[in-house]
Amino acid sequence: VSGYGGCDDESLHAIILGENGVHAARLQLEGAVVEYCLDCGELINPKRIAYARKTNMKCVRCVDCQQDEDRRPKSQIKMLTWIL
Ligand SMILES: [Zn+2]
Repeated sequence: VSGYGGCDDESLHAIILGENGVHAARLQLEGAVVEYCLDCGELINPKRIAYARKTNMKCVRCVDCQQDEDRRPKSQIKMLTWIL
């Protein structure tokens, strides 16, 4: 069967790209939990991660960076809500 491999690889690649896009979008929403802080790259306290998972809350920053984030204006979040 000629051309089989090339064609399949391409559609598979498209599927992978699509899933990555969905994953990235999900990270922007509530319930996102990561092990390393998005801002400083430090390992987030495992207790904080466990608590976030249990309560289905967003946890993408360590405690220090989250406190900084909470002090910032919320215009970005409002814009995201508006787009969605
Ligand atoms: Zn941090």
